[in-house]
Amino acid sequence: MANNEESLKKIISHAKEYGFVFQSSEIYDGLSAVYDYGSFGVELKKNIANHWWKSMVHFHENIVGLDSAIFMHPTVWKASGHVDAFNDPMIDNKDSKKRYRADVLVEDHIVKIEEKIEKEVDKASKRFGDSFDRIMFLETNPRVVEYRKKVEEIKSRLYKGLENNKLADIKTLIEELEIVCPVSGSRNWTEVRQFNLMFSTQIGSLSEGTNTIYLRPETAQGIFVNFLNVQKSARMKIPFGIAQIGKAFRNEIIARQFVFRMREFEQMEMQFFVRPGTEMEWYNFWKQERMKWHLSLGLPAEKYRFHDHEKLAHYANAAADIEFEFPIGFKELEGIHSRTDFDLGAHQQYSGKKLQYFDPELNESYVPYVVETSIGLDRTFLAVLSYAYDEQKLADGSERVVLHLPPFLAPYKAAVLPLVAKDGLPDKAREIMDLLKVEFLCQYEEKDSIGRRYRRQDAIGTPYCITVDHQTLEDNTVTIRERDSMLQERVDIATLHDIIARKLRNNK
Ligand code: ATP
Repeated sequence: MANNEESLKKIISHAKEYGFVFQSSEIYDGLSAVYDYGSFGVELKKNIANHWWKSMVHFHENIVGLDSAIFMHPTVWKASGHVDAFNDPMIDNKDSKKRYRADVLVEDHIVKIEEKIEKEVDKASKRFGDSFDRIMFLETNPRVVEYRKKVEEIKSRLYKGLENNKLADIKTLIEELEIVCPVSGSRNWTEVRQFNLMFSTQIGSLSEGTNTIYLRPETAQGIFVNFLNVQKSARMKIPFGIAQIGKAFRNEIIARQFVFRMREFEQMEMQFFVRPGTEMEWYNFWKQERMKWHLSLGLPAEKYRFHDHEKLAHYANAAADIEFEFPIGFKELEGIHSRTDFDLGAHQQYSGKKLQYFDPELNESYVPYVVETSIGLDRTFLAVLSYAYDEQKLADGSERVVLHLPPFLAPYKAAVLPLVAKDGLPDKAREIMDLLKVEFLCQYEEKDSIGRRYRRQDAIGTPYCITVDHQTLEDNTVTIRERDSMLQERVDIATLHDIIARKLRNNK
Protein backbone atom coordinates (compact mmCIF):
# COMPACT_ATOMS: atom_id res chain seq x y z
CA MET A 1 0.00 0.00 0.00
CA ALA A 2 1.31 3.46 -0.92
CA ASN A 3 3.07 5.27 1.83
CA ASN A 4 1.19 8.57 1.84
CA GLU A 5 -1.65 10.68 3.19
CA GLU A 6 -3.93 9.37 0.42
CA SER A 7 -3.84 5.84 1.82
CA LEU A 8 -4.56 7.17 5.33
CA LYS A 9 -7.63 8.93 3.92
CA LYS A 10 -8.87 5.65 2.45
CA ILE A 11 -8.41 3.89 5.77
CA ILE A 12 -10.25 6.68 7.60
CA SER A 13 -13.22 6.45 5.25
CA HIS A 14 -13.26 2.64 5.39
CA ALA A 15 -13.08 2.80 9.19
CA LYS A 16 -16.12 5.07 9.22
CA GLU A 17 -18.20 3.22 6.62
CA TYR A 18 -17.66 -0.16 8.26
CA GLY A 19 -18.12 0.87 11.87
CA PHE A 20 -14.54 0.83 13.14
CA VAL A 21 -13.97 4.49 14.05
CA PHE A 22 -16.21 7.58 14.03
CA GLN A 23 -15.32 11.21 14.64
CA SER A 24 -16.52 12.15 18.14
CA SER A 25 -19.74 14.24 18.24
CA GLU A 26 -19.98 14.11 14.47
CA ILE A 27 -23.51 15.52 14.30
CA TYR A 28 -22.09 18.68 15.92
CA ASP A 29 -19.34 18.81 13.28
CA GLY A 30 -16.99 16.77 15.42
CA LEU A 31 -14.49 17.41 18.19
CA SER A 32 -10.97 17.66 16.91
CA ALA A 33 -8.63 14.71 17.62
CA VAL A 34 -11.27 12.80 19.59
CA TYR A 35 -12.70 9.59 18.17
CA ASP A 36 -15.29 6.93 19.01
CA TYR A 37 -14.87 3.25 18.22
CA GLY A 38 -17.81 1.62 16.42
CA SER A 39 -19.11 -1.93 16.80
CA PHE A 40 -16.30 -3.61 14.85
CA GLY A 41 -13.60 -1.20 16.02
CA VAL A 42 -14.34 -1.85 19.67
CA GLU A 43 -13.97 -5.62 19.13
CA LEU A 44 -10.65 -5.20 17.32
CA LYS A 45 -9.37 -2.80 19.98
CA LYS A 46 -10.41 -5.12 22.82
CA ASN A 47 -8.75 -8.09 21.12
CA ILE A 48 -5.47 -6.16 20.87
CA ALA A 49 -5.73 -5.04 24.50
CA ASN A 50 -6.52 -8.61 25.66
CA HIS A 51 -3.55 -9.96 23.74
CA TRP A 52 -1.28 -7.41 25.43
CA TRP A 53 -2.74 -8.14 28.87
CA LYS A 54 -2.38 -11.88 28.42
CA SER A 55 1.20 -11.63 27.12
CA MET A 56 2.34 -9.19 29.80
CA VAL A 57 0.34 -10.14 32.90
CA HIS A 58 -0.82 -13.74 32.46
CA PHE A 59 2.35 -15.06 30.82
CA HIS A 60 4.79 -13.40 33.26
CA GLU A 61 4.58 -14.67 36.81
CA ASN A 62 6.40 -11.57 38.02
CA ILE A 63 3.98 -9.03 36.48
CA VAL A 64 0.63 -8.12 38.03
CA GLY A 65 -2.14 -5.80 36.91
CA LEU A 66 -3.63 -2.59 38.26
CA ASP A 67 -6.53 -0.31 37.35
CA SER A 68 -5.90 3.07 38.93
CA ALA A 69 -8.18 6.12 38.68
CA ILE A 70 -7.82 8.84 36.07
CA PHE A 71 -8.02 11.61 38.69
CA MET A 72 -5.11 11.78 41.09
CA HIS A 73 -3.94 14.11 43.83
CA PRO A 74 -2.63 17.28 42.11
CA THR A 75 0.75 16.97 43.83
CA VAL A 76 1.36 13.76 41.84
CA TRP A 77 1.82 15.90 38.73
CA LYS A 78 4.04 18.38 40.51
CA ALA A 79 6.30 15.52 41.67
CA SER A 80 6.34 13.85 38.25
CA GLY A 81 7.45 17.08 36.60
CA HIS A 82 4.35 17.38 34.42
CA VAL A 83 3.12 20.69 35.88
CA ASP A 84 6.43 22.39 35.18
CA ALA A 85 7.75 20.56 32.16
CA PHE A 86 5.10 18.64 30.21
CA ASN A 87 5.25 21.24 27.49
CA ASP A 88 5.55 21.32 23.75
CA PRO A 89 7.00 24.35 21.97
CA MET A 90 4.35 25.75 19.64
CA ILE A 91 4.47 28.26 16.84
CA ASP A 92 1.70 29.76 14.68
CA ASN A 93 1.80 30.79 11.08
CA LYS A 94 0.20 34.25 10.93
CA ASP A 95 -1.15 33.77 7.40
CA SER A 96 -2.73 30.33 7.58
CA LYS A 97 -3.47 30.67 11.33
CA LYS A 98 -2.29 27.04 11.64
CA ARG A 99 -0.47 25.96 14.77
CA TYR A 100 2.57 23.68 14.71
CA ARG A 101 5.00 22.08 17.09
CA ALA A 102 8.19 24.04 16.50
CA ASP A 103 10.41 20.99 17.10
CA VAL A 104 8.38 18.93 14.62
CA LEU A 105 8.80 21.59 11.91
CA VAL A 106 12.57 21.35 12.36
CA GLU A 107 12.52 17.54 12.51
CA ASP A 108 10.50 17.39 9.28
CA HIS A 109 13.14 19.59 7.68
CA ILE A 110 15.82 17.11 8.83
CA VAL A 111 13.85 14.25 7.27
CA LYS A 112 13.91 16.12 3.94
CA ILE A 113 17.71 16.40 4.08
CA GLU A 114 17.95 12.71 4.99
CA GLU A 115 15.80 11.87 1.98
CA LYS A 116 18.28 13.77 -0.20
CA ILE A 117 21.10 11.66 1.25
CA GLU A 118 19.16 8.48 0.43
CA LYS A 119 18.61 9.70 -3.14
CA GLU A 120 22.36 10.18 -3.58
CA VAL A 121 22.96 6.70 -2.14
CA ASP A 122 20.40 5.19 -4.54
CA LYS A 123 21.95 6.91 -7.55
CA ALA A 124 25.46 5.81 -6.61
CA SER A 125 24.47 2.23 -5.84
CA LYS A 126 22.91 1.98 -9.32
CA ARG A 127 26.06 3.45 -10.86
CA PHE A 128 28.52 1.22 -8.98
CA GLY A 129 26.44 -1.96 -8.86
CA ASP A 130 27.85 -4.80 -6.76
CA SER A 131 31.03 -2.95 -5.86
CA PHE A 132 29.06 -0.21 -4.05
CA ASP A 133 30.18 0.34 -0.46
CA ARG A 134 27.43 2.28 1.35
CA ILE A 135 29.41 3.16 4.47
CA MET A 136 32.40 4.40 2.51
CA PHE A 137 30.10 6.44 0.25
CA LEU A 138 28.37 8.07 3.25
CA GLU A 139 31.74 8.99 4.71
CA THR A 140 33.47 10.29 1.60
CA ASN A 141 31.04 11.68 -0.97
CA PRO A 142 31.45 15.46 -0.59
CA ARG A 143 27.79 16.30 -1.15
CA VAL A 144 26.59 13.64 1.32
CA VAL A 145 29.20 14.65 3.89
CA GLU A 146 27.93 18.21 3.62
CA TYR A 147 24.29 17.08 4.13
CA ARG A 148 25.22 14.94 7.11
CA LYS A 149 27.14 17.79 8.72
CA LYS A 150 24.10 20.01 8.24
CA VAL A 151 21.80 17.44 9.91
CA GLU A 152 24.11 17.15 12.93
CA GLU A 153 24.33 20.90 13.27
CA ILE A 154 20.54 21.36 13.12
CA LYS A 155 19.95 18.57 15.63
CA SER A 156 22.45 19.96 18.04
CA ARG A 157 20.94 23.47 17.88
CA LEU A 158 17.40 22.09 18.25
CA TYR A 159 18.22 19.90 21.25
CA LYS A 160 20.18 22.64 22.96
CA GLY A 161 17.29 25.05 22.46
CA LEU A 162 14.80 22.55 23.88
CA GLU A 163 16.97 21.52 26.80
CA ASN A 164 17.77 25.06 27.89
CA ASN A 165 14.29 26.35 27.10
CA LYS A 166 15.80 28.86 24.66
CA LEU A 167 12.70 29.24 22.52
CA ALA A 168 14.02 32.29 20.67
CA ASP A 169 16.90 30.14 19.36
CA ILE A 170 14.44 27.64 17.93
CA LYS A 171 12.59 30.47 16.19
CA THR A 172 15.91 31.69 14.72
CA LEU A 173 16.66 28.15 13.54
CA ILE A 174 13.26 27.93 11.79
CA GLU A 175 13.94 31.27 10.11
CA GLU A 176 17.47 30.36 9.05
CA LEU A 177 16.33 27.05 7.59
CA GLU A 178 13.67 29.01 5.67
CA ILE A 179 10.95 26.60 6.80
CA VAL A 180 7.60 27.53 5.29
CA CYS A 181 4.08 26.76 6.49
CA PRO A 182 2.83 23.76 4.48
CA VAL A 183 -0.60 25.42 4.21
CA SER A 184 0.12 29.08 3.38
CA GLY A 185 3.65 28.60 2.05
CA SER A 186 4.74 31.69 4.00
CA ARG A 187 7.47 32.28 6.58
CA ASN A 188 5.38 34.67 8.63
CA TRP A 189 5.80 32.98 12.04
CA THR A 190 4.89 34.03 15.60
CA GLU A 191 7.34 33.59 18.48
CA VAL A 192 7.78 30.07 19.84
CA ARG A 193 5.88 29.55 23.11
CA GLN A 194 5.63 26.69 25.60
CA PHE A 195 2.27 25.01 25.87
CA ASN A 196 1.37 22.64 28.74
CA LEU A 197 -0.37 19.54 27.44
CA MET A 198 -2.33 18.64 30.57
CA PHE A 199 -6.10 19.16 30.75
CA SER A 200 -7.29 20.56 34.06
CA THR A 201 -10.66 20.59 35.77
CA GLN A 202 -12.14 21.35 39.21
CA ILE A 203 -12.88 18.86 41.97
CA GLY A 204 -15.23 19.56 44.90
CA SER A 205 -18.28 21.78 45.23
CA LEU A 206 -18.06 25.56 45.46
CA SER A 207 -19.08 25.49 49.13
CA GLU A 208 -16.22 23.17 50.12
CA GLY A 209 -13.79 25.15 48.04
CA THR A 210 -12.54 23.71 44.77
CA ASN A 211 -9.18 22.43 43.72
CA THR A 212 -7.65 22.20 40.30
CA ILE A 213 -6.91 18.63 39.28
CA TYR A 214 -5.66 17.14 36.05
CA LEU A 215 -6.79 14.43 33.69
CA ARG A 216 -3.82 12.08 33.76
CA PRO A 217 -1.49 12.51 30.75
CA GLU A 218 -0.06 9.00 31.27
CA THR A 219 -1.12 5.93 33.23
CA ALA A 220 2.36 5.38 34.70
CA GLN A 221 1.95 7.65 37.75
CA GLY A 222 -0.98 5.56 39.03
CA ILE A 223 1.45 2.63 39.10
CA PHE A 224 4.22 4.56 40.89
CA VAL A 225 2.02 5.87 43.68
CA ASN A 226 0.65 2.34 44.23
CA PHE A 227 4.09 0.72 44.16
CA LEU A 228 4.15 -0.31 47.81
CA ASN A 229 0.43 -1.22 47.95
CA VAL A 230 0.87 -3.66 45.10
CA GLN A 231 4.29 -4.96 46.13
CA LYS A 232 3.08 -5.78 49.63
CA SER A 233 -0.43 -7.09 48.82
CA ALA A 234 0.69 -9.25 45.88
CA ARG A 235 3.88 -10.28 47.75
CA MET A 236 6.10 -9.34 44.83
CA LYS A 237 9.88 -9.65 44.90
CA ILE A 238 12.16 -7.49 42.80
CA PRO A 239 12.45 -7.69 39.81
CA PHE A 240 8.70 -7.40 39.18
CA GLY A 241 6.31 -5.40 37.07
CA ILE A 242 2.94 -3.67 37.37
CA ALA A 243 0.84 -3.31 34.23
CA GLN A 244 -2.20 -1.27 33.40
CA ILE A 245 -4.39 -0.31 30.47
CA GLY A 246 -6.24 2.97 30.64
CA LYS A 247 -7.16 6.32 29.22
CA ALA A 248 -4.72 9.21 29.08
CA PHE A 249 -5.36 12.79 28.00
CA ARG A 250 -3.11 15.30 26.27
CA ASN A 251 -4.05 18.62 24.75
CA GLU A 252 -1.98 17.91 21.64
CA ILE A 253 -1.01 20.85 19.43
CA ILE A 254 -0.94 18.90 16.20
CA ALA A 255 -4.03 16.79 16.02
CA ARG A 256 -4.53 15.92 12.40
CA GLN A 257 -3.49 12.30 12.17
CA PHE A 258 -6.60 10.26 12.93
CA VAL A 259 -6.15 7.89 15.90
CA PHE A 260 -2.38 8.27 15.70
CA ARG A 261 -2.51 11.47 17.74
CA MET A 262 -5.59 11.95 19.86
CA ARG A 263 -6.44 14.20 22.77
CA GLU A 264 -8.04 11.28 24.62
CA PHE A 265 -6.34 7.95 24.03
CA GLU A 266 -5.49 4.65 25.67
CA GLN A 267 -2.13 3.47 26.91
CA MET A 268 -0.91 0.00 27.84
CA GLU A 269 1.95 0.52 30.25
CA MET A 270 4.14 -1.70 32.35
CA GLN A 271 6.59 -0.44 34.95
CA PHE A 272 9.26 -2.97 35.83
CA PHE A 273 10.98 -2.42 39.20
CA VAL A 274 14.60 -3.55 39.39
CA ARG A 275 17.66 -3.42 41.60
CA PRO A 276 19.73 -0.24 40.89
CA GLY A 277 22.63 -1.08 38.62
CA THR A 278 20.75 -3.83 36.77
CA GLU A 279 18.53 -1.47 34.79
CA MET A 280 20.46 -1.61 31.51
CA GLU A 281 20.21 -5.39 31.44
CA TRP A 282 16.43 -5.16 31.91
CA TYR A 283 16.13 -2.29 29.48
CA ASN A 284 17.73 -4.44 26.77
CA PHE A 285 15.61 -7.41 27.80
CA TRP A 286 12.36 -5.45 27.46
CA LYS A 287 13.41 -3.92 24.16
CA GLN A 288 13.72 -7.42 22.70
CA GLU A 289 10.61 -8.79 24.45
CA ARG A 290 8.45 -5.96 23.24
CA MET A 291 9.65 -6.31 19.65
CA LYS A 292 8.76 -10.02 19.84
CA TRP A 293 5.29 -9.06 21.00
CA HIS A 294 4.80 -6.78 18.00
CA LEU A 295 5.82 -9.55 15.65
CA SER A 296 3.31 -11.87 17.38
CA LEU A 297 0.57 -9.67 15.91
CA GLY A 298 1.38 -11.16 12.53
CA LEU A 299 2.82 -8.00 10.97
CA PRO A 300 6.17 -8.33 9.16
CA ALA A 301 9.49 -7.40 10.79
CA GLU A 302 10.40 -4.88 8.09
CA LYS A 303 7.47 -2.70 9.21
CA TYR A 304 9.20 -2.11 12.57
CA ARG A 305 12.42 -0.47 13.65
CA PHE A 306 14.06 0.77 16.84
CA HIS A 307 14.88 4.40 17.27
CA ASP A 308 17.36 4.94 20.08
CA HIS A 309 17.01 8.37 21.64
CA GLU A 310 19.96 10.72 21.47
CA LYS A 311 18.22 13.33 23.55
CA LEU A 312 17.04 11.84 26.85
CA ALA A 313 14.23 13.13 29.05
CA HIS A 314 15.41 14.43 32.42
CA TYR A 315 14.31 11.22 34.17
CA ALA A 316 15.83 8.67 31.78
CA ASN A 317 19.26 7.09 31.38
CA ALA A 318 18.29 5.18 28.22
CA ALA A 319 15.29 5.31 25.90
CA ALA A 320 14.18 3.85 22.61
CA ASP A 321 11.04 3.87 20.52
CA ILE A 322 9.65 1.01 18.53
CA GLU A 323 8.56 2.68 15.33
CA PHE A 324 6.05 1.30 12.85
CA GLU A 325 5.67 2.19 9.21
CA PHE A 326 2.22 3.79 9.27
CA PRO A 327 0.68 5.13 6.06
CA ILE A 328 2.20 8.46 7.17
CA GLY A 329 5.70 6.95 7.45
CA PHE A 330 7.76 5.44 10.27
CA LYS A 331 6.44 6.82 13.58
CA GLU A 332 6.59 5.99 17.28
CA LEU A 333 4.32 3.17 18.41
CA GLU A 334 5.88 2.27 21.75
CA GLY A 335 8.44 3.78 24.09
CA ILE A 336 10.85 1.79 26.27
CA HIS A 337 12.45 3.93 28.92
CA SER A 338 14.91 3.34 31.69
CA ARG A 339 13.50 5.88 34.19
CA THR A 340 16.02 5.34 37.02
CA ASP A 341 14.61 6.10 40.50
CA PHE A 342 13.32 9.45 39.32
CA ASP A 343 9.59 8.82 39.82
CA LEU A 344 9.64 6.85 43.08
CA GLY A 345 12.30 9.22 44.42
CA ALA A 346 10.19 12.28 43.58
CA HIS A 347 7.01 10.81 45.11
CA GLN A 348 8.97 9.90 48.22
CA GLN A 349 10.14 13.48 48.50
CA TYR A 350 6.78 15.15 47.80
CA SER A 351 4.65 12.77 49.88
CA GLY A 352 7.08 12.39 52.75
CA LYS A 353 6.39 8.62 52.67
CA LYS A 354 9.12 6.03 52.17
CA LEU A 355 8.83 4.20 48.85
CA GLN A 356 11.57 1.66 49.38
CA TYR A 357 11.96 -2.03 48.93
CA PHE A 358 13.77 -4.27 51.37
CA ASP A 359 15.92 -6.64 49.34
CA PRO A 360 16.37 -9.82 51.40
CA GLU A 361 19.28 -10.99 49.22
CA LEU A 362 21.27 -7.79 49.80
CA ASN A 363 19.84 -7.27 53.25
CA GLU A 364 19.27 -3.58 52.48
CA SER A 365 16.52 -1.17 51.48
CA TYR A 366 16.56 0.99 48.37
CA VAL A 367 14.36 2.94 45.99
CA PRO A 368 14.06 0.60 42.98
CA TYR A 369 14.96 1.65 39.45
CA VAL A 370 12.27 1.39 36.79
CA VAL A 371 12.20 0.20 33.20
CA GLU A 372 8.98 1.18 31.47
CA THR A 373 7.28 -0.14 28.37
CA SER A 374 4.57 2.22 27.14
CA ILE A 375 2.49 1.53 24.08
CA GLY A 376 -0.50 3.35 22.60
CA LEU A 377 -3.50 1.06 22.10
CA ASP A 378 -4.98 3.34 19.45
CA ARG A 379 -1.71 3.52 17.53
CA THR A 380 -1.48 -0.28 17.61
CA PHE A 381 -5.05 -0.41 16.33
CA LEU A 382 -4.06 1.89 13.47
CA ALA A 383 -0.95 -0.19 12.72
CA VAL A 384 -3.00 -3.39 12.53
CA LEU A 385 -5.84 -1.82 10.54
CA SER A 386 -3.65 0.01 8.04
CA TYR A 387 -1.50 -3.04 7.35
CA ALA A 388 -4.59 -5.24 6.94
CA TYR A 389 -6.32 -2.92 4.47
CA ASP A 390 -6.10 -4.16 0.89
CA GLU A 391 -7.86 -3.22 -2.34
CA GLN A 392 -7.83 -6.21 -4.67
CA LYS A 393 -8.62 -6.61 -8.32
CA LEU A 394 -10.00 -10.10 -8.82
CA ALA A 395 -9.56 -12.48 -11.77
CA ASP A 396 -13.13 -11.86 -12.98
CA GLY A 397 -12.42 -8.11 -13.21
CA SER A 398 -14.36 -7.19 -10.07
CA GLU A 399 -12.81 -5.51 -7.05
CA ARG A 400 -12.99 -6.06 -3.32
CA VAL A 401 -11.70 -4.36 -0.20
CA VAL A 402 -10.48 -6.91 2.29
CA LEU A 403 -8.98 -6.59 5.77
CA HIS A 404 -6.33 -9.29 6.18
CA LEU A 405 -6.58 -9.07 9.96
CA PRO A 406 -4.81 -11.79 11.93
CA PRO A 407 -7.80 -14.09 12.74
CA PHE A 408 -7.28 -13.86 16.51
CA LEU A 409 -7.72 -10.09 16.30
CA ALA A 410 -10.61 -10.03 13.81
CA PRO A 411 -13.85 -8.62 15.27
CA TYR A 412 -15.86 -11.65 14.12
CA LYS A 413 -14.33 -15.08 13.69
CA ALA A 414 -17.04 -16.37 11.36
CA ALA A 415 -20.24 -15.30 9.64
CA VAL A 416 -23.12 -17.75 9.35
CA LEU A 417 -25.12 -17.12 6.19
CA PRO A 418 -28.25 -18.96 5.03
CA LEU A 419 -28.19 -18.93 1.22
CA VAL A 420 -31.83 -17.81 1.15
CA ALA A 421 -34.03 -16.61 3.99
CA LYS A 422 -36.62 -19.39 3.58
CA ASP A 423 -37.09 -23.19 3.24
CA GLY A 424 -35.82 -23.78 6.80
CA LEU A 425 -32.28 -22.54 6.02
CA PRO A 426 -32.37 -19.73 8.65
CA ASP A 427 -33.31 -22.26 11.35
CA LYS A 428 -30.39 -24.49 10.39
CA ALA A 429 -28.05 -21.47 10.35
CA ARG A 430 -29.25 -20.51 13.83
CA GLU A 431 -28.34 -24.00 15.06
CA ILE A 432 -24.79 -23.43 13.77
CA MET A 433 -24.67 -20.04 15.48
CA ASP A 434 -25.62 -21.71 18.76
CA LEU A 435 -22.90 -24.29 18.25
CA LEU A 436 -20.14 -21.75 17.66
CA LYS A 437 -21.10 -18.62 19.56
CA VAL A 438 -20.12 -19.86 23.01
CA GLU A 439 -16.49 -19.79 22.02
CA PHE A 440 -16.26 -17.57 18.95
CA LEU A 441 -17.86 -14.23 18.21
CA CYS A 442 -19.94 -14.94 15.07
CA GLN A 443 -22.31 -12.88 12.99
CA TYR A 444 -25.59 -14.10 11.53
CA GLU A 445 -26.67 -12.42 8.30
CA GLU A 446 -29.47 -13.29 5.88
CA LYS A 447 -30.03 -10.01 4.01
CA ASP A 448 -28.71 -9.39 0.44
CA SER A 449 -27.20 -11.73 -2.11
CA ILE A 450 -24.55 -14.16 -0.91
CA GLY A 451 -21.88 -12.35 -2.97
CA ARG A 452 -22.63 -9.03 -1.30
CA ARG A 453 -22.58 -10.66 2.10
CA TYR A 454 -19.13 -12.17 1.38
CA ARG A 455 -17.83 -8.72 0.37
CA ARG A 456 -19.16 -7.17 3.55
CA GLN A 457 -17.46 -9.79 5.70
CA ASP A 458 -14.21 -9.29 3.73
CA ALA A 459 -14.43 -5.57 4.47
CA ILE A 460 -14.62 -6.16 8.21
CA GLY A 461 -11.98 -8.89 8.14
CA THR A 462 -14.05 -11.98 9.09
CA PRO A 463 -11.77 -15.00 8.44
CA TYR A 464 -14.59 -17.47 7.60
CA CYS A 465 -18.00 -17.36 5.96
CA ILE A 466 -20.16 -20.42 6.56
CA THR A 467 -22.95 -20.83 4.05
CA VAL A 468 -26.01 -22.97 4.72
CA ASP A 469 -27.77 -24.21 1.56
CA HIS A 470 -30.39 -26.79 0.63
CA GLN A 471 -27.85 -29.62 0.68
CA THR A 472 -27.14 -28.77 4.33
CA LEU A 473 -30.65 -29.91 5.22
CA GLU A 474 -29.95 -33.28 3.60
CA ASP A 475 -26.42 -34.16 4.73
CA ASN A 476 -25.42 -31.67 7.46
CA THR A 477 -22.60 -30.16 5.39
CA VAL A 478 -21.95 -26.47 4.73
CA THR A 479 -19.53 -24.52 2.56
CA ILE A 480 -16.80 -22.68 4.40
CA ARG A 481 -15.12 -19.82 2.56
CA GLU A 482 -11.73 -18.55 3.61
CA ARG A 483 -11.33 -14.76 3.52
CA ASP A 484 -7.87 -14.34 1.98
CA SER A 485 -7.86 -17.13 -0.62
CA MET A 486 -11.65 -16.98 -1.16
CA LEU A 487 -11.49 -20.78 -1.54
CA GLN A 488 -14.60 -22.69 -0.61
CA GLU A 489 -14.76 -26.14 0.82
CA ARG A 490 -17.67 -28.38 1.72
CA VAL A 491 -17.33 -29.64 5.27
CA ASP A 492 -19.38 -31.41 7.90
CA ILE A 493 -20.99 -29.11 10.48
CA ALA A 494 -19.37 -31.19 13.22
CA THR A 495 -15.88 -30.12 12.03
CA LEU A 496 -16.54 -26.34 12.02
CA HIS A 497 -15.49 -25.72 15.58
CA ASP A 498 -12.08 -27.38 15.08
CA ILE A 499 -11.43 -25.62 11.77
CA ILE A 500 -11.95 -22.19 13.34
CA ALA A 501 -10.00 -23.09 16.49
CA ARG A 502 -7.05 -24.28 14.37
CA LYS A 503 -7.07 -21.07 12.36
CA LEU A 504 -6.97 -18.98 15.52
CA ARG A 505 -4.10 -21.01 16.94
CA ASN A 506 -2.04 -20.78 13.75
CA ASN A 507 -2.62 -17.04 13.57
CA LYS A 508 -2.64 -16.94 9.78
P1 ATP B 1 4.89 11.48 20.55
O1 ATP B 1 6.35 11.86 20.51
O2 ATP B 1 4.40 10.80 19.31
O3 ATP B 1 4.01 12.60 21.01
P2 ATP B 1 5.39 10.53 23.17
O4 ATP B 1 6.85 10.23 23.12
O5 ATP B 1 4.93 11.78 23.82
O6 ATP B 1 4.74 10.38 21.69
P3 ATP B 1 4.94 8.70 25.30
O7 ATP B 1 4.75 9.75 26.32
O8 ATP B 1 6.20 7.90 25.31
O9 ATP B 1 4.66 9.30 23.84
O10 ATP B 1 3.67 7.72 25.38
C1 ATP B 1 3.75 6.33 25.14
C2 ATP B 1 2.89 5.90 23.99
O11 ATP B 1 1.57 6.43 24.11
C3 ATP B 1 3.38 6.37 22.63
O12 ATP B 1 4.39 5.51 22.13
C4 ATP B 1 2.12 6.32 21.80
O13 ATP B 1 1.90 5.02 21.29
C5 ATP B 1 1.03 6.64 22.80
N1 ATP B 1 0.61 8.04 22.65
C6 ATP B 1 1.22 9.13 23.14
N2 ATP B 1 0.53 10.24 22.80
C7 ATP B 1 -0.54 9.82 22.08
C8 ATP B 1 -1.63 10.49 21.45
N3 ATP B 1 -1.76 11.81 21.53
N4 ATP B 1 -2.54 9.76 20.78
C9 ATP B 1 -2.43 8.42 20.71
N5 ATP B 1 -1.43 7.73 21.28
C10 ATP B 1 -0.49 8.41 21.96
